[in-house]
Amino acid sequence: VKPEVDYSPLLKERHQFIGRNLSISYKKPLKIVKGALQYLYDDKGDTYIDCVNNVSHVGHCHPVVVKAMQRQIATLNTNTRYLNDQLVEFGKELTRTLPSKLKVCYFTNSGSEANDLAIRMSRHFTKRKDVMVLDHAYHGTSTVAIEMSPYKFDGKGGFGQMPYIHKADSPDLYRGPFGYNDSQAGVKYAESVKKILAENPGKISAFICETLLGVGGQIPLPDGYLQEVYRLVREAGGLCIADEVQVGFGRVGEKFWGFELQNVEPDIVVLGKPIGNGHPLAAVVVTEEIADAFNNGMEYFNTFGGNPVSMATGRAVLNVIQSENMQQHALETGNFLMEGLRGLMDKHPVISDVRGHGLFVGAEMVKDRLTKEPAVAEINALVESMKERGFLLSTDGPLYNVLKIKPPLVFSKQNAADMVRHLDEALTALSL
Ligand code: PMP
Repeated sequence: VKPEVDYSPLLKERHQFIGRNLSISYKKPLKIVKGALQYLYDDKGDTYIDCVNNVSHVGHCHPVVVKAMQRQIATLNTNTRYLNDQLVEFGKELTRTLPSKLKVCYFTNSGSEANDLAIRMSRHFTKRKDVMVLDHAYHGTSTVAIEMSPYKFDGKGGFGQMPYIHKADSPDLYRGPFGYNDSQAGVKYAESVKKILAENPGKISAFICETLLGVGGQIPLPDGYLQEVYRLVREAGGLCIADEVQVGFGRVGEKFWGFELQNVEPDIVVLGKPIGNGHPLAAVVVTEEIADAFNNGMEYFNTFGGNPVSMATGRAVLNVIQSENMQQHALETGNFLMEGLRGLMDKHPVISDVRGHGLFVGAEMVKDRLTKEPAVAEINALVESMKERGFLLSTDGPLYNVLKIKPPLVFSKQNAADMVRHLDEALTALSL
C-alpha cells in the first residue's frame, strides 16, 4: 500500500485560479502524469487501464501520431491563408472515408465549434432557423451548442428550451414505449419527429443527432430509425446532420461511421474528439450544395482551424486507424467484451441491459429489473471500486445509471477479460 499523497494544496490553487465548475473524477482524485496507449500512470507509479477515453482513439501518446506532430510543429504552424499541402491532403483523405456526396471540409478546434458551424451552414442553406434535436442530447459547450443540448438546457444552470429548438423523443429501446421485441420500433420512434415537423411547417432548418446516443445513455439507434427520420426531415425541406463526435472513426466496428449502421447518408457530418487523438481538432463535412450556399460573400476564417500541425495530426491518426486495422479490432474486442458483460447479468441482477457496437458499450444498472429504478449510488460505488482495481470507467445517461465503456481502440481482449473479471469481483464485494 502506497502512502497517501496530500492533494489539498493543489486542489486549493485549482479552485482559486481555475473556473470552479470544472469537475474532478473520483472521491480521491487521481493525478495522472503519463499515458501510453490504453494505459495511464499516476504520480505514485500506479497503472490504470483507460476504459473510457474515446478521445485518445488510437491510444494515449501513440508514437506515430506524436512523431508526425513533432515533425510538423518543428517545421511550421500557421493559418490557412497560405497554401499548404497538409490541409488539402487531409481533406482528401478524410472525404475518402465518407459517402461521395460529402465532399467539402471545414476544420475547427472542437466539436462544439463544429456543431455551431454546422447549424450556421444549415441556416444559410435553408433560410430557416429552427433546429430539431433528441431529448437528453449533448452537442457541445458554445452558446448555440448548449441551446441544442437538452442535457444542458434542461438541467441545473440551463436557460431552458429556446423557442427555435424542438426536442424529439429519445429512441431508447430499453426504457422507451417501444422495446427490443418490436421490429417496428424505429419507425414508431420517428413519429415524434413527424409530429414536430407537422406542427412547425416550413420552420425546421436541420435535424441533428448522434448516430449512437452517448450522453443520452450509450444507446444504439433502433433499426430503420434514421432512414425514416431523414426521409421525413428532407420531405419537409430540412437538412440531416450526423454528430459523429463520439462514435466515428471505426469505433463501432462493423462500420467506419455510426450513420452507416443505419444505412443513411447525412447532408452534414460533424467530427471531433478522436479525429486528433487528443489534439484540438474537429471538422464539418458537407455536400457541394451546402458549401456553395455558405460561400456567400462572408469569409470563413478560423485562426487555428486547419493549421498544419492539426492537419498532420489528423492525417497520422487516420493512417494509424487504417494501417493498424483498428476498426476490425474494435469489432472483435467489443463483441468479446459485450459477451463477457452479458455473462455477468445472471449473477448480478443489477446489470439489466448491455448494449453497443464495437468499443462503444453501455451497461445499464437498476435496483429492480421490473421497475427499472436506476441504481445510482450502486453504480457510483462500482466505478470507485473499479478505480481502486486499476480500471477507469464512468457513468452516463439521463438517469446517471449507465456504465460507459469506450476505451482507446488499442484496448485488448485481455484488457476486456480482466475488466469483466474485476467487475464480477467488485459487484460481489458490493453485494450487487
Ligand atoms: N458532440 C458530442 C456528441 C459530444 O459528446 C461532445 C463532447 N462531449 C461534443 C459534441 C462537443 O465537443 P467538444 O467538447 O470537443 O467541444
